[in-house]
Amino acid sequence: MSQAPDQSFLPFARPDIGEAEIAAVAAAMRSGWVTTGPQARAFEEEFAAFIGGGVQAVAVNSATAGLHLALEALGIGAGDEVIVPSLTFTATAEVARYLGADVRLVDVDARTLCVDAAAVEAAITPRTRAMLPVHYGGLACDMAALHALAERHGLHVVEDAAHALPTTSGGHRIGSLAGSSAAVFSFYANKTMTTGEGGMAVVRDAKLAARMRVMRLHGIDRDAFARFTSRTPAWYYEVVAPGFKYNMTDVAAALGRVQLQRVEAMAQRRAALAARYLEELRDLPLTLPAAAPEREAHAWHLFVLRLTDEARIGRDDLIDALARRGVGCSVHYVPLHRQPYWRDRYALRPEQFPQAEAAWQRMLSIPLFSAMSDEEQGRVIAALRAELA
Ligand SMILES: *Cc1c(COP(=O)(O)O)cnc(C)c1O
Repeated sequence: MSQAPDQSFLPFARPDIGEAEIAAVAAAMRSGWVTTGPQARAFEEEFAAFIGGGVQAVAVNSATAGLHLALEALGIGAGDEVIVPSLTFTATAEVARYLGADVRLVDVDARTLCVDAAAVEAAITPRTRAMLPVHYGGLACDMAALHALAERHGLHVVEDAAHALPTTSGGHRIGSLAGSSAAVFSFYANKTMTTGEGGMAVVRDAKLAARMRVMRLHGIDRDAFARFTSRTPAWYYEVVAPGFKYNMTDVAAALGRVQLQRVEAMAQRRAALAARYLEELRDLPLTLPAAAPEREAHAWHLFVLRLTDEARIGRDDLIDALARRGVGCSVHYVPLHRQPYWRDRYALRPEQFPQAEAAWQRMLSIPLFSAMSDEEQGRVIAALRAELA
């Protein structure tokens, strides 16, 4: 990220930051208040309003932090289990381990690559407390099925919504679904909007939000004493728990507020790029990503191709060949059941995850970002055609 952009090489992702963002960050710095303050509070209110459904938003310095705070506030700890898809980033699972809880990794649906509801059901034990569905690539999981399961078994649903701004399910924005305890968005550099580093946890339960706000900043509760006296001095606070340091700075929030204003326009650009890929790559030996159901929004954070048996080149060689043609690609993800920590802790074998296995060996993510030009996308399509047609 620190290198000057190479005009000839198209990176896998590039943040979509304009003069309005730069001006907002400069104004925040000139204001004299750079850490959490009025910008962060305004960002939370605007984000909650964008999601809708009367939710509260808790700004944090990463989605990982938000997921951790959500599980902590739900009381998840040692002896508990949470269910996580294997085809995700390690952050989805690691937060349970921070709290001493255990992770049950499960397989994904072959078509959507989102967590498979039947696999979730099969993994439920008397110790299961929560599931963390991941809206893979920006396509919503089957939330009706997952919420029904959660209700039947008394489980919390904490959505890893890192890819899912703005995604809908049942016509409602992810983040506003009544059956979930929390949904957590990421503003990492390559996500659909960015604050450099940052995240937003969205919850509807006021008690949960209050606990997350306290734990976000060292376990400091500024309201506890104020409840008993109206004469609380401004310097007074009470520490009620060994909390974390997860607050979002005003510099980041100022950037986020401008990005949020542009998020629908950026989503439209991503959707247009995805539509062109779906059209111009359809005759190649590829399984193209699943589209959203009719009238639902897909955030198109990722555009994940899977090579079919007819392809004359393997995945690794294709990524190398595309790099030589000036196109940066990535893989989302090496499944967690193949990562040494998760594999060894739970003695996992690839055969337990047939769909994630089949998918990851054939998959690559090609550039899809709102700042990408038509000409740049044309270069990606031409490079793929040269290698695969
Ligand atoms: C990016 C990402 C995260 C982590 O987000 P951070 O803001 O970097 O903590 C978690 N889960 C998934 C699926 C992600 O893609």
